[in-house]
Amino acid sequence: MKVIIERENCVSCGSCWEACPDLFEQDPDDSFSRIIEKHRPDAKNRAEGTVPYEDEACAQDAVDLCPSQIIRVE
Ligand code: SF4
Repeated sequence: MKVIIERENCVSCGSCWEACPDLFEQDPDDSFSRIIEKHRPDAKNRAEGTVPYEDEACAQDAVDLCPSQIIRVE
């Protein structure tokens, strides 16, 4: 499973990193959500990650909770 955040539209509400702290965190540079580095296929791309099996349920929770609807899983 892959996860993508449209970071430029993040409102930094915190719902995703509270629901799924192993996958999402707040970027101190711009305050937006980002994928935790160990889950990024490309370390430089903070917006895309590979979801470990054990985080699939919370990744889906983050999708459902995001008020801006900018998190997608495939
Ligand atoms: S839930 Fe959505 S708007 Fe809130 S911090 Fe995460 S990506 Fe940003």
